[in-house]
Amino acid sequence: LAQGLDALRELPCETLDGQRMPLWVNTGLLADVKRAQERGAEGVGLYRTEVPFMNGERFPSEKEQLANYREQLAAFHPLPVTMRTLDIGGDKALSYFPIKEDNPFLGWRGIRITLDHPEIFLVQVRAMLKASEGLNNLRILLPMISGIQEMEEALHLIHRAWGEVRDEGVDIPMPSVGVMIEIPAAVYQIRELARQVDFISVGSNDLTQYLLAVDRNNPRVADLYDFLHPAVLHALKLVVEGAHAEGKPVSICGEMAGDPAAAVLLLAMGFDSLSMNATNLPKVKWLLRQISASRARELLGQLMTIDNPQVIHSTLHLALRNLG
Ligand code: PEP
Ligand code: MG
Repeated sequence: LAQGLDALRELPCETLDGQRMPLWVNTGLLADVKRAQERGAEGVGLYRTEVPFMNGERFPSEKEQLANYREQLAAFHPLPVTMRTLDIGGDKALSYFPIKEDNPFLGWRGIRITLDHPEIFLVQVRAMLKASEGLNNLRILLPMISGIQEMEEALHLIHRAWGEVRDEGVDIPMPSVGVMIEIPAAVYQIRELARQVDFISVGSNDLTQYLLAVDRNNPRVADLYDFLHPAVLHALKLVVEGAHAEGKPVSICGEMAGDPAAAVLLLAMGFDSLSMNATNLPKVKWLLRQISASRARELLGQLMTIDNPQVIHSTLHLALRNLG
């Protein structure tokens, strides 16, 4: 198997009829970097910046963050690294910033916290910008966006941070900025959101949770948590169509992208790249190399007419098994 993985690393992720699909990785710990490189990732679609924050005992300083981000950006350079601004709250707690709420997933999370605390956001963005000096492979991603105002406020702060670091003599271009689509409200504002940013990235973990009203971490309702539910598939299709109508690339960085069968459907929908845990990358690449894009689109068309999630699963898996 190790030999097979090595051979696969050198091969492009390309369907039988020649459609390329860039495979990116999700990272958080430094150990993820090496694994990603061993598996031939073409970029980082999601660096979860809250991971190093969760390991500390206080908020890291701008200098400490800069050193950490520099390490991440340099490791993948010249490949792009998508750094998500701090996404705490929900299930991601910081011991030194306690939040007590009855419904944390519907509460103070992600961009809501950092817009209420612009000093936290500005320090982080300044550190990212300074870290990218001379490398210029930074992309910034905004989590938990539910509407236009949040995006505009965040963009305003990023511009402010950019002005500040340039005043300090750091010479860097404005990085690409994208929003995550992980709240149903954002699905229905995709055109307006995509118009003002450089790229779109779907967070299917939260999008599935919020569309189906199923806690992503509750084992009692785990059977109901299904990213192949017809409502999720329709939402994903809307996002791809909306982003493309605005001429913006759209990626997906939830666990769904690392599920080989689901990846076939995401390719068929028109996603421009898939970002996943490095562990799943070879499996996804292997399967996408076994199918044609035209067959994948035919299969998606068929599945989009089925209203029973179980039948969607069985039809998909039967079709893929028949590939051999
Ligand atoms: C998601 O919600 O799909 C996502 C990628 O973000 P996280 O899993 O960190 O919430
Ligand atoms: Mg999320």
